[in-house]
Amino acid sequence: MKYIDEYRDAKMAEAYARAIDAAATKPWTLMEVCGGQTHTIVRFGIDELLPDKITLVHGPGCPVCVTPIELIDKAIEIASRPDVIFCSFGDMLRVPGTQKDLFVVKAGGGDVRVVYSPLDCLKIARENSGKQVVFFAVGFETTAPANAMAVYQAHQQGVTNFSILVSHVLVPPAMEAILSSPSNRVQGFLAAGHVCTVMGYTEYEPIAAKYRVPIVVTGFEPLDILMGVLMCVRQLEEGRAEVENQYARSVRREGNRHAQQIISEVFRITPRKWRGIGAIQRSGLGLSEKFANYDAEARFGVADYTAEEPAECISGLIMQGVKKPHECSAFGKRCTPEYPLGAPMVSNEGACAAYYRYRKVQTAVNIERNTATAMEA
Ligand code: SF4
Repeated sequence: MKYIDEYRDAKMAEAYARAIDAAATKPWTLMEVCGGQTHTIVRFGIDELLPDKITLVHGPGCPVCVTPIELIDKAIEIASRPDVIFCSFGDMLRVPGTQKDLFVVKAGGGDVRVVYSPLDCLKIARENSGKQVVFFAVGFETTAPANAMAVYQAHQQGVTNFSILVSHVLVPPAMEAILSSPSNRVQGFLAAGHVCTVMGYTEYEPIAAKYRVPIVVTGFEPLDILMGVLMCVRQLEEGRAEVENQYARSVRREGNRHAQQIISEVFRITPRKWRGIGAIQRSGLGLSEKFANYDAEARFGVADYTAEEPAECISGLIMQGVKKPHECSAFGKRCTPEYPLGAPMVSNEGACAAYYRYRKVQTAVNIERNTATAMEA
């Protein structure tokens, strides 16, 4: 399959691992930003294929994982109302709130629906004019254009029984927060290729220069990751701190201008709280004044909710690269995909879920085996 098979070649993977070993003269710690990259790394055993001197730590790029618990509580409160049809991507239904999750609301008779696009919700809203239809708008810059488009179209079409519960976060401020932390150990980043497909990578250039850290825009297949690591290591060894683009088959420096335009029309930049990390200035999106009527928090009076995250869950430390999932005392015991304590054990992009699911298969040959399995599925 084009753009898949050629990026899962086990022999090439071993050759890249040898090139990385030859390039690295000392230990380096790199962070892959995106949860999709984390899953590739753990699933294909990339971290164990790399020489010991290269440590990969996992970043905050899992949108489900960074959604704070009070937003889950807000979603549960809204979804529990009899006049509401609450729509969400499937991952969010199992993320634990303070008392329960959205699946429990659904099991108790709440009208909670899984959708594949926010635009599906507009259709539901048009077909159910006596109900309020709410979409849980979660994600990074990647999902923001489609969510913005849903609001824009609702406005154009005069659909007034539609609103969105916004939990949009932005990658560059989170990277800066990690680099500014006294506990930071990240020396180079593999930036999230799909975010850069939308936003380009000019935003990363001042970060690379300010913190003297290489940033390589990287894709999601095994060879993408290995190429990204090699490019990052070469920069570190040569004393360079630049933004490079490994994922050139998808990313242009300026990004997708049309997507950026709809984001900036519908949303504005706001402070945002990140689960396990806390508030980060200018790290999120909220609805702009023109589209404020579509804000579910205001419409349902839940804007002031606050909640404490479970003390046992160390997801914040994991997403800042300070700890790894198996270092959490609850991992695989009190926290499993069936009974999660934290969102990273639930999400398809969560680091804890990746370790729980794939940690048994960790050699180069598994790139071939896992590819074969994926093809059969
Ligand atoms: S294993 Fe569970 S409790 Fe521990 S950090 Fe991951 S999600 Fe949180």
